[in-house]
Amino acid sequence: MSQESPDQIFADALKRLDRAAEFADIGEEALLRLKSPKSVLEVSIPVRMDDGSLRVFQGYRVRHDDTRGPTKGGIRFHPNVHPGEVKALAFWMTCKCAVVGIPFGGGKGGVVVDPKHLSRLELERLSRGFIDCVADFIGPETDIPAPDVYTNAMIMGWMMDEYSKICRQRTPAVITGKPIPLGGSLGRDDATGRGAYYCIKELETRKNWTPENVRVAVQGFGNAGQHVARLLHADGYRIVAVSDSRGGVFRQEGLDIPRLIETKNRTRRIDAVYHEGSVCDCPDCGSEQCQCEDCHCDDGPGAKSKSITNAELLELDVDILIPAAMENQITVENAARIKAPVVIEVANGPTTCDADEILIQQDTLIVPDILANAGGVTVSYFEWVQNRAGYYWTEDEVHDRLKEIMSREFVAVYDLMTQLQTDMRTAAYVHAMTRLGDALNSQGTERFFSNHVTSQTPPKTASA
Ligand code: NAD
Repeated sequence: MSQESPDQIFADALKRLDRAAEFADIGEEALLRLKSPKSVLEVSIPVRMDDGSLRVFQGYRVRHDDTRGPTKGGIRFHPNVHPGEVKALAFWMTCKCAVVGIPFGGGKGGVVVDPKHLSRLELERLSRGFIDCVADFIGPETDIPAPDVYTNAMIMGWMMDEYSKICRQRTPAVITGKPIPLGGSLGRDDATGRGAYYCIKELETRKNWTPENVRVAVQGFGNAGQHVARLLHADGYRIVAVSDSRGGVFRQEGLDIPRLIETKNRTRRIDAVYHEGSVCDCPDCGSEQCQCEDCHCDDGPGAKSKSITNAELLELDVDILIPAAMENQITVENAARIKAPVVIEVANGPTTCDADEILIQQDTLIVPDILANAGGVTVSYFEWVQNRAGYYWTEDEVHDRLKEIMSREFVAVYDLMTQLQTDMRTAAYVHAMTRLGDALNSQGTERFFSNHVTSQTPPKTASA
């Protein structure tokens, strides 16, 4: 998955803190505290398999910092889960919540497993088993999980149910990303893509873009990638390339995104629309080589689509590049060949630290992950608020509140970038660290405590 070691991912994540500290007046102590997670829990989850055998899975839950509120972050089921990577993901969550100003800290969890090799019953036992192991660690006021890579709404529903059984009371606010009938929020499904879309709309105003002239490439066509592509396409943006883990498709005139989404979700393939039987049986349908006489493709033969690799997609001559798949996709190996002048980081950590430097020298504007993909955690916050209030919002209310937060914080970070004459990632970290520093320092710093002899004496208590 990533070329860096998982421990290196965390070390790299902290480098960004150091860079931002050159601009932010956060204080040494706050910086020191943010460099170590609050707690790291490792658990062993015994699971009875369908054939009667017993397997024990390793799981982790990291709480990075809870100064601004309960920790918040997803649970990943993936064979490459490693505590170093989970620590980095939890750290990013702390920063992300602070960037958008929601009252949460950062957490993250994971289980070392390839869920594709489990039956549905085994998956349910594992999900409930994980909660049995971490139940003392999580809670609506302490640590609130959510879905992440290879976990979904149904798994969140099982986990909420298990936690509720342990507590002997229904506790929907312990977890977000639940199915709607179990207390999920309307608008959570497309929140990450929509949040990134609102950032792009702010850029559109500043850059005077005409959507029809803006070419976009999206790497990763899952939840986040599909929704940002769908919203941009509906506004007239020309989405010229998309890809998934198998590779991608490119069409200079722009792709039919609604049809790609429908076909991808039905066939699990994105190339089926332009190259395979779902449109017509000609493998070259839509390309210059197309030989079909009775073509059902709306664009007809000669529409010039072609297959591309994920590496080729990243290096396309486009106006906006949207990495929306995995970490470490833009590295020192390919950074100099990235032609897009604007990169919107919908995935977490798609650009390595060293690659960042190269892109900054090339004058590439990077809207960083901790801002660009913060729409997901923002609507998770809305879900938690609705669960606690027992009062549910309409989809329009969710969209309006999300737009207000994303637009406001985008403008704040963009203006800070201009004011500090730095890159947008550093500005986003400065913005986050100012909020974090204010919270951490309001508990007292060395300057306050070293003067304790001369400071006010504590008020007397009423009792003798
Ligand atoms: P997903 O599992 O729904 O989709 C991931 C997509 O990436 C799939 O289409 C998969 O085929 C593709 N993919 C995997 N490896 C790839 C590779 N090497 N090259 C190209 N494509 C590849 O996941 P998602 O929820 O859309 O998340 C995508 C990214 O966005 C992750 O980094 C995730 O952490 C981040 N993110 C998601 C959310 C959310 O709410 N979904 C919130 C914040 C951040």
